[in-house]
Amino acid sequence: MHVNTLILGAGAAGLHCAANAGGDVLVVDHAKAAGEKIRISGGGRCNFTNTGTTHANFISANPHFAKSALARYTQWDFIDLVDRHGIAWHEKTLGQLFCDVSAKDIIAMLLAEMDAVGAQLWLKTEIGNIRHDGSVFHVALKRDGTAQIVTADNLVVALGGKSIPKMGATGLAYDIARQFGLKVTDTRAALVPFTFSDEKFKPLAGTAIPARLTTSDGTAFEEALLFTHRGLSGPAVLQSSSYWRDGEDVNIALAPNFDIDAALKSHRTTDGRKAVTTILSTHIPARLLDFLADDIDLSGNVGDLSDARIGDLTSALRRWALKPSGTEGYRTAEVTLGGVDTNDLSSKTMEAKAQKGLYFIGEAVDVTGWLGGYNFQWAWSSAVAAGAAISR
Ligand SMILES: Cc1cc2nc3c(=O)[nH]c(=O)nc-3n(C[C@H](O)[C@H](O)[C@H](O)COP(=O)(O)OP(=O)(O)OC[C@H]3O[C@@H](n4cnc5c(N)ncnc54)[C@H](O)[C@@H]3O)c2cc1C
Repeated sequence: MHVNTLILGAGAAGLHCAANAGGDVLVVDHAKAAGEKIRISGGGRCNFTNTGTTHANFISANPHFAKSALARYTQWDFIDLVDRHGIAWHEKTLGQLFCDVSAKDIIAMLLAEMDAVGAQLWLKTEIGNIRHDGSVFHVALKRDGTAQIVTADNLVVALGGKSIPKMGATGLAYDIARQFGLKVTDTRAALVPFTFSDEKFKPLAGTAIPARLTTSDGTAFEEALLFTHRGLSGPAVLQSSSYWRDGEDVNIALAPNFDIDAALKSHRTTDGRKAVTTILSTHIPARLLDFLADDIDLSGNVGDLSDARIGDLTSALRRWALKPSGTEGYRTAEVTLGGVDTNDLSSKTMEAKAQKGLYFIGEAVDVTGWLGGYNFQWAWSSAVAAGAAISR
């Protein structure tokens, strides 16, 4: 069998590329269903893009690489598509757009777009050897127990990263890249909770608080922090995990919008007999204050505090340095940081510089978005970049 374009991976990037690559496209995936990560994303409602997307929301060894694809197929282009399919959506927070009803609506939309151009989809299909004979790609596939070779003029690798192996992630994209002489940058789990070997936060599990987390490189995220049995989670923590390196501290400012210094000083004048913890508990959960009291002196009434003690207390709550022992790893990570080296790809088409007709798109590439719909936007934009180049 011969096709013009063979797309490996029926995830967000692969499905969207199929609809944009013109006719005679075959998409293959070893999963039982297409778009499994879309289905579970955003708590089942898929945070499908972010209205504020720019290249600054992505991490890559080349921070400029994503610019071209993001500019040529923007968040507004994808929102248009969602609107054309009558999918109702809402903005949750910080420009994050979610389906009103279900992430399955996005999968149905992508499949309908594929159908409209006559692209085929083979699920439960194993991918074997791949080679290029100087003119076409030969890809060994095993479908329903039957082995066959499919040849293709174009091969699009949309196999994602290594996160959540239980959902079918394999890292095969990196092996294919290396086979064709492309480099792969170091990969690691990102958008992932921090763990602490002593499980010291167990008593706080379930407690949440607004926080600003700053990693050693100075990157700061201000969102919710959630204590878990094994460590720290919540949006602020997931975001910071993409910038954190093993062995480093994370600096935490608790309740950053609560002016602790001003509140304590004002109560000292008006309400001196109030306990310090009572004033702080208006913005910091009492369970967390109990926990912190082991290390920070929170005793006494506010009327007894000197300016210096107020200063010490404020900075202790604003500069809480913690050293995670690690992260939950690929088991729960939303994305893989790193991937196919962008130096080896065209930023306009995603085509490999070393091999004509070979494309890498989506999470497999060393472009990793923040939490908040950016990773899907990269999947859509990079898919259209490759699709448009192929259909030309
Ligand atoms: C729990 C969770 C929630 C998320 N929520 C959001 C969100 O709300 N917003 C957002 O922007 N991002 C979110 N993400 C990230 C987002 O899902 C990914 O960035 C995106 O799916 C990447 O798309 P992709 O097509 O590149 O890869 P994938 O969607 O991972 O697709 C890769 C496909 O390749 C197939 N495959 C892999 N290896 C093989 C193999 N060896 N043989 C055959 N097939 C193979 C897989 O089965 C899969 O179908 C979330 C991720 C997770 C894990």
